Amino acid sequence: MDLLKQRILQDGRCYPGGILKVDSFINHQMDPMLMYKIAEEFIRRFKGTEINKIVTIEASGIAPAIMVGYIMQLPVVFVKKKKPKTMDNMLSTTVHSFTKDRDYSVCISNSFLTPADNVLFIDDFLAFGNAAIGMVELVRQAGAKISGMGFIIEKAFQDGGKTLRNMGIHVESLAIIENLDNCKISVR
Ligand code: 5GP
Repeated sequence: MDLLKQRILQDGRCYPGGILKVDSFINHQMDPMLMYKIAEEFIRRFKGTEINKIVTIEASGIAPAIMVGYIMQLPVVFVKKKKPKTMDNMLSTTVHSFTKDRDYSVCISNSFLTPADNVLFIDDFLAFGNAAIGMVELVRQAGAKISGMGFIIEKAFQDGGKTLRNMGIHVESLAIIENLDNCKISVR
């Protein structure tokens, strides 16, 4: 997606350890016009796929996910990183955070992820695929199905994309970062 690539090259910042900072337009300050175009592109790429629910993980996936759900007129559910006291019947698993270098548990109510669901999972970044694999596990526990996974940015030098595609999952990433060597952003 050219518009996104240009924006990453213009406003993205590279951090040591293979981290790309996009907090001026994606995950802190957000550009809703760009986010809308991102959602349209996801929908174009998953056209013809059976989807009845959009699922993401808080917090940075919520903005693109809700745009997709709005355009497709589908419910959006976000996986929580803390178990609310009021949530019964929850499904949970553990995810390793690459940016924070720690494990955390994630949960979703089985009222909102059920065997009837064909899920499109949306997130901001695909790095090693830990969050996405956590999602695969929650979907397995629910007896639901993953119809596809869409990421705004995939970092090709971290192997999440390979892992998910090898699992047979339809993965679409709107911008693919080849590397961040010498703090230079190289986009495919
Ligand atoms: P993964 O689970 O695929 O290893 O990492 C994905 C999650 O880690 C994303 O949800 C995102 O929040 C965070 N993340 C991974 N790499 C980056 C990065 O380069 N920049 C930012 N801002 N977040 C990242």
